[in-house]
Amino acid sequence: MARYTGSSCRLCRREGQKLFLKGERCYGGKCALSRRAYAPGQHGAAKKKLSEYGVQLREKQKAKRFYGILESQFRKYFEIADSKKGITGEVLLQLLETRLDNVVYRMGFGTTRAESRQLVTHGHFEINGKRVNIPSYLTKVGEAIEVCEKSRKSPRFKEILDITGSKVVPKWIEVDQENLKGRVVALPARDDVDLPVQEHLIVELYSK
Ligand code: SF4
Repeated sequence: MARYTGSSCRLCRREGQKLFLKGERCYGGKCALSRRAYAPGQHGAAKKKLSEYGVQLREKQKAKRFYGILESQFRKYFEIADSKKGITGEVLLQLLETRLDNVVYRMGFGTTRAESRQLVTHGHFEINGKRVNIPSYLTKVGEAIEVCEKSRKSPRFKEILDITGSKVVPKWIEVDQENLKGRVVALPARDDVDLPVQEHLIVELYSK
C-alpha cells in the first residue's frame, strides 16, 4: 500500500491550515504552523494569488492529506461518490469518513489517522467478530468494531486512551472506551465532518 512518507507538518504548511496529522503536538506550541505560518520552500513566504484551478486543487489536496490518501485512491472515491445518489461532495466525505482507519481514529483508538492505519494493518481490530486489517475497508451502519482480544492488554492502547480519552466522539459513532469497542450507528452527515474543506470545489475540479 503506497503512502506519503514525508514530513506531515510540511503538508499543513503547504495548505496554510492545521490538518492535525501529529496528534498531541498539533495542539501545543511546537506546531510547525504556529512557528512558520507560510508555505515550505524557498519562495514559500511570497504571497501568491491562486487561479480558480489553483483554489480547487488546494481543496482537493487538503482533503487527501487530511485522510492520508494518495491521488489514485482519492479519485476512485470521487468516482464512487459520483455514481451514487445524493450530493457528490457530501457522499465523497461520507465515504472517506467511514474508512476503517478513520473510524478507529474517531473512536479514539489511535491518536492520529496514520497511527490508526498502522494499528489496523497490524491486525489489532475486529469487525463483527472477524479480524479486518484493511484500513480502506468501508464500515457500515450497525457494524461493531473492537480491539481484538489478544491486543486488549497491550500497553499501547492504554497510552492511546490516556491521550484521546477526553476527545469528543462524533454522534454517528458509539464508543465504549473501557472495553475498547464501538459501533457505527449512522452515516455521517456533513455537519459531523470537521474537515475544513469546500467539497464542491473538489467536485468541480474532477468534473472538468
Ligand atoms: Fe500540522 Fe501543526 Fe500538527 Fe504539524 S504539528 S501536523 S503543522 S497541525
